[in-house]
Amino acid sequence: QMSEEELLTRRNDAFATVQEHYYEEPPRIERGWRQYLVDTRARGYLDMLNNVTILGHGHPVLSDAVHRQWQRLNTNSRFHYASVVELSERLAQLLPAELDTVFLVNSGSEAVDLALRLAWATTGRQDVVAVEEAYHGWTYASDAVSTSVADNPGALESRPPWVHTVAAPNSYRGRHRGEEARNYGPEAAARIAALAAEGHAPAAFLCEPYYGNAGGMALPDGYLEQVYAATRAVGGLCIADEVQVGYGRLGTHFWGFEQQGVVPDVVTVAKAMGNGHPLGAVITRREIADAYRTQGYFFSSAGGSPVSSVVGLTVLDIMRDENLQANALEIGGYLKRRLVELGERHPLIGTVHGCGLYLGVEFVRDRMSLEPATEETAAICERLRELGVVMQPTSDRQCVLKIKPPLCLTRDSADVFVAALDDVLTYGW
Ligand code: PMP
Repeated sequence: QMSEEELLTRRNDAFATVQEHYYEEPPRIERGWRQYLVDTRARGYLDMLNNVTILGHGHPVLSDAVHRQWQRLNTNSRFHYASVVELSERLAQLLPAELDTVFLVNSGSEAVDLALRLAWATTGRQDVVAVEEAYHGWTYASDAVSTSVADNPGALESRPPWVHTVAAPNSYRGRHRGEEARNYGPEAAARIAALAAEGHAPAAFLCEPYYGNAGGMALPDGYLEQVYAATRAVGGLCIADEVQVGYGRLGTHFWGFEQQGVVPDVVTVAKAMGNGHPLGAVITRREIADAYRTQGYFFSSAGGSPVSSVVGLTVLDIMRDENLQANALEIGGYLKRRLVELGERHPLIGTVHGCGLYLGVEFVRDRMSLEPATEETAAICERLRELGVVMQPTSDRQCVLKIKPPLCLTRDSADVFVAALDDVLTYGW
């Protein structure tokens, strides 16, 4: 069998350097089972990283359903078959009643791109307001509104003139901290009003309803209510990017925007929706989808195909049958308590962000200055990998351990992870 080194060399020869991989010396993964990954040397890893395989790896019910559908039929959604209709209805049922019209695509980037196109077509305007230090995808429009320099080093230089930003609503280390974070909403609202006064009324305001790039941080109370009101006051649409946070990961709610008590005009979904199969969606109101009809074009060869639709339906069935949202709430709550306890003993832990199985441990060199412990975070990730836990840093400062495991995570696995992190923080990395 080919060595790890040889495979890595061949990968680097075949791929552009921009296609990075996890770790300097990546383990060669061969199989996945529930919250575990197994490499070619039969070494198991706890997957605390994967925000896509919400059901866990290798789910037998899902793979059987996919296999059966592939044998029977796969084609595109201009043909008439039941599963694509059923999936669209199921999605709409999970959302507030006015969000009743569905487009099926293949990825989060496509979903965000389409959401922006809907806003452009509906309003006849081009300006868009996004949040600093955010990631929304790599296609033209989704890349333009991806302001995170960690994910896209050229973000600032390549930003087109129609993209405007408001401050990252980071209540831990941003301009407004703690209670003061309530100022982010009114400030963003004022910026939207000012843009309109300058003749740049936005077609849309777009953000994640739970702040992902900061490592999974709640938005300040009332933030979306204030910013959505300001956007609607100038005739813009409110887009909620639920690609990462939606689908039950928060545990408290199925969608992130529900935590803020608002209803968006357009919702983007992907990742969890296909449990790793390329599947995404945009859900909006009928009049917005119809406005697009007069100006835009939509056809996706594989979006909502029979196989994709069966995947989407089966993922929702399994989530319901295995109570995965409730598990995210219970195990995520337990894990967060244990991580907060670790923080009482390890000063490197500045804070623990998040909710459900969407958590982040932020490492700082000093709790007063909040100096980011970037190198330490990278080293801790390497050492955790040696101990059999797969995870990665996030945030523009790369100092947050991103914790987004499959929602089937068990209490025992949470304990294994906490014990490994405790050992690394106690005995060094
Ligand atoms: N939006 C958000 C919030 C995301 O986290 C991502 C993926 N990291 C995307 C959009 C893009 O999704 P995809 O990689 O499926 O194109």
